[in-house]
Amino acid sequence: MSIVAILDSQQQGNIQADVLAPQFGALAEAYVYPHSITAEDGSLYFLTRQKLTKNLVVLSRRPQVQSPDAESRQFVTVDGQSLTLSIYRQDAATAAYLRSKLPWLAPVTLGLRTSVGCGDRLGLATPGHIHAVQQCTRDIAPIFAQQSIREMMRTSRTPQNVVDDAAWGVFQEGWRRGFGADADHLKTTADIDACVAAGYTFYTFDPGVYVDNMYDADKYNQLPWHDLESSPGDARRQYRNRFDDTVIERAFVKYGRAVSHVTRMYRHLAAAMNGVPFEVEVSVDETEQPTTHAEHYIVAGELRRLGVDWVSLAPRFVGRFEKGVDYIGDLAAFEADCAGHVEVARQWGPYKLSIHSGSDKFSIYPIVTRLAGEYVHLKTAGTSYLEALRTVARYDAALFRSIYLLAHEHYAEDRASYHVSADPAQAPDQHLSGVSDPQVILDQFDARQMLHVCFGTILAAYDGDIRRTLVENEESHYADIQRHFERHLASFCN
Ligand SMILES: [Zn+2]
Repeated sequence: MSIVAILDSQQQGNIQADVLAPQFGALAEAYVYPHSITAEDGSLYFLTRQKLTKNLVVLSRRPQVQSPDAESRQFVTVDGQSLTLSIYRQDAATAAYLRSKLPWLAPVTLGLRTSVGCGDRLGLATPGHIHAVQQCTRDIAPIFAQQSIREMMRTSRTPQNVVDDAAWGVFQEGWRRGFGADADHLKTTADIDACVAAGYTFYTFDPGVYVDNMYDADKYNQLPWHDLESSPGDARRQYRNRFDDTVIERAFVKYGRAVSHVTRMYRHLAAAMNGVPFEVEVSVDETEQPTTHAEHYIVAGELRRLGVDWVSLAPRFVGRFEKGVDYIGDLAAFEADCAGHVEVARQWGPYKLSIHSGSDKFSIYPIVTRLAGEYVHLKTAGTSYLEALRTVARYDAALFRSIYLLAHEHYAEDRASYHVSADPAQAPDQHLSGVSDPQVILDQFDARQMLHVCFGTILAAYDGDIRRTLVENEESHYADIQRHFERHLASFCN
């Protein structure tokens, strides 16, 4: 089919991307990503790259109305006809424009489908994530945009940057099967507002600071019963058929204020979304004490009673879920713990169990899928960034050595607020003396955690250099991400 015929037919089924990409490349004088080529509404859209710069190019019969200012606009002759070729900068205005034309670039809700959260601190990993998800033989719903407010601050990104970067990756790869956007670990209603404005669809509430691990009998009566729309007596009566009063009171002292906070966040979000579909995850994973099954049952029961609706819940499981490394703990104990949480999630749900700090926990994935079936959300945050550092180590060893030195210098400070146990004395020395291939560093437990938690410091110092290396070697970067995620997804989608 000729280009003009595609423009006239407004059909996209017949596009032969591999044939058209070189033709468009000649017109735009740039490399064209074949899977990005999209016909819609009498125009052709595609993503180009020249050196390190990517652009949106639109080919149409006439300049489009209501488009942002094009960087350049020219007439080209195709099949004997004059067409308009417009080139747009890869920025927020262009992303918003493209979303208005191609709705599959906007995040959607995913419901109860098995899902995976692919945190992406650099905003360059989505094509690699897509390649991995495309290999799945079973349906898995991806969240390509996901970052916590804490991470956004440390990487100097806005909620909109995170959503837009994922959308550009989706456009580049032509992924049409939908994706979610997770506003992760939100702690305040101000966090919610910032993310609603950026188009997020999945909201993770983290009431961790309201979890009280110190039980004291007096605290039970002093809970915010008014906010909980309950009373000390009502609460006991509600759960007495299942649990002793002491179990009930302890659960309320530990999680009562958290329940109240989540309810407040939920009502605020529902009002802010104003009818636009959204979904919520409740997470208490970043707390000191594991969540007992009774506590999970009571928290879920209270949230239900208060009208909160959620698709997934992240308890604090037993064992250690440290950043960037496998599960640390007794697998039999984890299995028993997970089984109890699955049962509670079936009773009050079904809803998904969410595995936070879920990256690199290869030993528990088979257990989780066997017990929870499809009702799982696997959340990974920093592991894509670590794989990006593997690419950097391969192509710019000197840069990687500087990064590693910085991690040694800042680990003591940067590890605060993270669950890690790396000991720098156990990691290869800060100058990597005698290490000929620095890629191996990414597989050393202590070094991996140090690089993981120092991401803010590392990106503040070397963001530009890291990005340049990754874009210059992007196929290799995507392959590193894909390989790592295929390992993660093997238990969940095959
Ligand atoms: Zn978490």
